[in-house]
Amino acid sequence: MTRNYAAAVNWQQELLSSIEVGIVVLDENFRVEVWNQFMENHSDIRPAQICGQSLFHHFDDIDESWLRAKAEPVFNLQTPVFLIWEQRPYLFRFGSNRPITSDSACMYQNVTMFPLTCDNGQTKQLCMLVYDVTDQALGKLRVERLNEELEYMSRVDGMTGLYNRRYWQERFDSIFKLYKRRDAEVAAVMLDIDHFKKINDTYGHQAGDKVIQTLAGLINQCIRETDLAGRYGGEEFALVLPDANAQQAHLVAERIRLAAEAATVLHDDQPIRFTVSLGLAPFDHEVTSAMAWLEQADMALYDAKASGRNLAIVYNEED
Ligand code: GH3
Ligand code: MG
Ligand code: MG
Repeated sequence: MTRNYAAAVNWQQELLSSIEVGIVVLDENFRVEVWNQFMENHSDIRPAQICGQSLFHHFDDIDESWLRAKAEPVFNLQTPVFLIWEQRPYLFRFGSNRPITSDSACMYQNVTMFPLTCDNGQTKQLCMLVYDVTDQALGKLRVERLNEELEYMSRVDGMTGLYNRRYWQERFDSIFKLYKRRDAEVAAVMLDIDHFKKINDTYGHQAGDKVIQTLAGLINQCIRETDLAGRYGGEEFALVLPDANAQQAHLVAERIRLAAEAATVLHDDQPIRFTVSLGLAPFDHEVTSAMAWLEQADMALYDAKASGRNLAIVYNEED
């Protein structure tokens, strides 16, 4: 009988030592009763140093009131509680044991806390299982980051960093629907570089690209963060200016026009000057579709071209 008991204790000890999971037993006051080899290896704290002492005494970065609140159902309701890395990357700050090249300095952990119930049915201890989920977490974070990058790339025009036509149009359509229900002002703007073919013909396509990129930068500097700027086509740009009436939108358009007029693009040491024309359409509740609204801006742009270019013109339905 004694030999059987000793044998049982032995394999339990071995199990505690060799298992690649942290095992911690705590009493109601969060004093440590069991601290297995995994915990020792990763914390550099031996069981003799920590057993009988408060867990918080050794890990002052663990928020005591938070952990006590989390563990309450384990003692009071005798239900298990799970701490997952997505909510809190780790409970114990351990090194990750991963190569230096890995993105993680810390070990990501999932922790299970469950009640240890005495013969009389009371729970005076809880057991914590600490799982190293670093590989899983890094894998998931990598996929998430990749997805974010893909989403960003699917929205943005690679050459200018502005929104591409598809995404701009999508946002424009929803802004249209939103303002249809609202009593607020918003303006759409179409912009086109003047005599751009001539720039390409004179300085080459690459120089033309540089002009497009420079203009995109200028547009960004002239608008607010809440405005929406997109590259609508080759050298055409489209903007939505929320909370702007015709006069305010005209001010923004003039700012862009003057910035373009003042800019010099250097290509192979040659200074290139350019101008832009802009057409504006303040939102009008009579307009029946986003497309019709944008066409008004396009008509105003056509007017600006016909009136001599390097102009910003507001759509006027009488014209
Ligand atoms: P207008 O003042 O009437 O707008 O004259 P324009 O010469 O600018 O005429 P249009 O807008 O029709 O010409 C656009 C030209 O832009 C035609 C095309 O070859 C060129 N283009 C379109 N996309 C790009 C691009 O990404 N890079 C460069 N360099 N050129 C482009
Ligand atoms: Mg054009
Ligand atoms: Mg043009």
